[in-house]
Amino acid sequence: MVRLGLLLAILPCLGMQLSCESSGTAAAQTHDSIPNNDTLVQFTISSVGDMMCHSTQFNYAKVAEDSFHFEPCFEYILPWLQQPDLLMGNLETTLAGDKQAYSGYPYFNTPDDYVVALKNIGFDFIITANNHSNDTGEKGIYRTLKVLDELGLPTSGTYTSQKDRDSIRIVDVKGIKVAILAYTYSTNGNPLAEGKPWLVNLCDSALINSDIQQSRSKGAELVVVFYHFGEEYQRLPSTYQKNFVDHAVQCGADLVLGSHPHVLQPAAFFKGVNSTLDTGFVAYSMGNFISNQQDEYTDEGVIFNMHLEKNTITNKIRLTSVDYLPTWVYKGKNEAKKLHMVFPALQANDTLLPEFVQTYYTDEVEKAIKHTTATMQTYTQEIKPVSR
Ligand SMILES: [Zn+2]
Repeated sequence: MVRLGLLLAILPCLGMQLSCESSGTAAAQTHDSIPNNDTLVQFTISSVGDMMCHSTQFNYAKVAEDSFHFEPCFEYILPWLQQPDLLMGNLETTLAGDKQAYSGYPYFNTPDDYVVALKNIGFDFIITANNHSNDTGEKGIYRTLKVLDELGLPTSGTYTSQKDRDSIRIVDVKGIKVAILAYTYSTNGNPLAEGKPWLVNLCDSALINSDIQQSRSKGAELVVVFYHFGEEYQRLPSTYQKNFVDHAVQCGADLVLGSHPHVLQPAAFFKGVNSTLDTGFVAYSMGNFISNQQDEYTDEGVIFNMHLEKNTITNKIRLTSVDYLPTWVYKGKNEAKKLHMVFPALQANDTLLPEFVQTYYTDEVEKAIKHTTATMQTYTQEIKPVSR
């Protein structure tokens, strides 16, 4: 792990001005005294990007009539999924049930077994606001939330009522209150049910500001804003992304995480404004965690680990470091393994990788390592891959 040095990157404040008023409820910043180890609570919040389920994925994972085995897709990265105190990612599909056909793009309806697997492999929190949230309409939104709730997976981004939307999601991570807010740029032109704008959180600057202030007034010590935005397949953030990230920062967000472009984009540190963290972190796009997308770079992703520390005497929280596991998605092309699988991309000829990957796919893994390293070093040198 690498300790953060001085402030490493300050977000550019571009074009569009998004109004933002702070309620002034940010945690008081006190000077650290020299802490005793037992006054420090260390915790890690981790996130992945887009969790897709194209039809080829559920076809390969099918083991019997209406029974799908997705856990083996993730078995090689399990150790890294078990380490965080809070692991989250964007569920870019809906669970409308088996009364209508399961489907991939453009209207996703995924077997429930997919999220059962996410729960089993270590996910703690699911983001549901994205351009596919409304693929199976209002009923699909409700059923998705019901299935996740029954699995004990809290969510943010889609809701069952106005009251539900207005109840800020605050989770307890080792005793620290963390608010998780989520917004999407669109629902792919599929209108939300009439009179129910609360079904899906859209990128609305006033709403974002009011949710961040509400989070603070409800006692959130950290505020995470998860955005689903940007241009697909673009490897650098757009002006729209920069503006909305800047808005979240100005309103007091501590961590800002992005997805949707389906490829990785750079990450950076920023100086907090009315936030808990003096130095916050933004990941513009975390890429695909798993998908059947075929374009270059869409098989590359990361698991970001944000390591934090709270001094329980001063109540000060700081981001001590950020690291990542580079991942590469194998898409069942080899007869030896007809399944989508996520592999760690730390070394091309890694002995951790199965023989068929070491035999046929070292070039792909090598490319993933190279691309990911370059992207991560675009704005800062301080974000490193995890050590094994
Ligand atoms: Zn998307």
